[in-house]
Amino acid sequence: MQRYDVLVVGGGPAGSTTAIRLAEGGARVLLVDKAIFPRDKPCGGGLTTRAFAQCPVDPTPVVEDEVDVVELRFRFGDSVVRQASSPVIRMTQRRWLDAFLLAAARERGVEVREGTTIDTATAPADVIVGADGANGTTAKSVGLGGGIVQGVAYEGNVPYGTVARERYAHRAVVELADIPGGYGWVFPKGDHVNVGVGAWQEEGPRIREHLARVCNAHGLDPSQLDALRGHRLPLRRAATRLANERALLVGDAAGLIDPVSGDGMYECFVSSRLAAEAILAGTLAAYPAKLDAALGRLHGASWKLKRALDRWPRASWRVARTRLLWGSVERLLLGDVGSPGEVTGAARVPLRVLDALARIP
Ligand SMILES: Cc1cc2nc3c(=O)[nH]c(=O)nc-3n(C[C@H](O)[C@H](O)[C@H](O)COP(=O)(O)OP(=O)(O)OC[C@H]3O[C@@H](n4cnc5c(N)ncnc54)[C@H](O)[C@@H]3O)c2cc1C
Repeated sequence: MQRYDVLVVGGGPAGSTTAIRLAEGGARVLLVDKAIFPRDKPCGGGLTTRAFAQCPVDPTPVVEDEVDVVELRFRFGDSVVRQASSPVIRMTQRRWLDAFLLAAARERGVEVREGTTIDTATAPADVIVGADGANGTTAKSVGLGGGIVQGVAYEGNVPYGTVARERYAHRAVVELADIPGGYGWVFPKGDHVNVGVGAWQEEGPRIREHLARVCNAHGLDPSQLDALRGHRLPLRRAATRLANERALLVGDAAGLIDPVSGDGMYECFVSSRLAAEAILAGTLAAYPAKLDAALGRLHGASWKLKRALDRWPRASWRVARTRLLWGSVERLLLGDVGSPGEVTGAARVPLRVLDALARIP
C-alpha cells in the first residue's frame, strides 16, 4: 500500500488549503472527504478581505459579488449605512468555492479521494490533519479536541426578483441585538441573497423563529427561502488540544470560529498555513502556540465584544453606530490590523468603551 507523508481528513477550505500548502512544500498528501464535490456546506459564503488575502490560491473565479457597503441595524429599526473605501467582503457560494479549492489541491499533486472515509488508526501516513469540520470525528480518534463551546447557525436563499437587487447588491445587512449570542444577516450573491442567523447553541429550538423575524424585517415569508440548512459554529476554549506528536487540527475541527462574527474561513486559511509550516518543519508541537499568537488576541477581543453586545445591547449599539468604530471594523475586515488591540489614537476610544461594558460584572 502506498504511504503518504500526510493524510488530510476533510476537503473544506481548511483541509484543501492545508493540502495545497503541503504539496507545494514537497509533501506527498492524501486527502479524503466523505462527500462528493461539488457539495454544499451551510455558510454565508462571505470571504472578508483579510480571509481573501490569506487564501493560497486566488478565489476570484468563484466570487459572485463584492461588498463595499455595510448596513448595521438595531432590533430591525435604527440603522447606519457605512461605505468602505474598497471591498471588505467577497461573496461566494460554498458549493463552488470548496470545489474550486479542492481542484487546486488536485492540480498541485494531492491525491484526493471523494466519497471516502478512513480509519485514522491504520492510515497509511506519518501525520494526520483533522479538517473534518464542526461535526468531525478525527479529533476524538487521534486524542485531540475537547472543551469546545457550540453556537448554531441557520440560513437559506431567496432569488433576486423576490427581493430587489438594487436594495441588496454590494451590501451586507447585519441585524444586531435581537438574537441571543449572535446576529442576522442578508448577504448578496450572483442571482440571489443569502438570509441567515447565528446564535448560542441553546437557541437551537428557536432558531427558525429567529430566522422568521429576520425574514419579516425584509418583507419575506420564511417559506420563500430555499435550501434552508443549519450547522454548528464551534468555538474553542483554552483547554482544546490542537496537536500531538502525530496529528493536528485545523479550521472548524479545531473550533476556530470567530466568537462574535461567526466567520471561520479566515481562521481556516491561517490555521492551514501554520499547520503546513509545522508539519513541513517536523515541529507539530509548536503549532498551538503559533496559532494562539496569530488568532489569540483577535478572538479574545471578539469574546469581550460578544459579551458586551449580549449583556448591554443598547449601550453597545450606541458605540457600534459611531463612525469612529466603523473605521476600526473596516481596518479589521481589510486585514490592515490583526486585532482591535492594534488600533491606535482616537479610534481606540469606542473600543475601550466596549471593553469596559464587557467587564461590568
Ligand atoms: C450558517 C453558517 C454561516 C457561516 N457564514 C460564514 C461566512 O459568511 N464567512 C465565513 O468566513 N465563515 C462562515 N461560517 C463558518 C464557516 O462555514 C466554517 O468556518 C468553515 O466551513 C470551516 O471550514 P472547514 O474546512 O474547517 O470545515 P467544513 O467546511 O465543514 O468541511 C469539512 C469537510 O469534512 C468532511 N468530513 C466530515 N467528516 C468526515 C469524515 N469522517 N471523513 C471524511 N470527510 C469528512 C465534510 O464532508 C466536509 O467536506 C458560517 C458557518 C455557518 C454554520
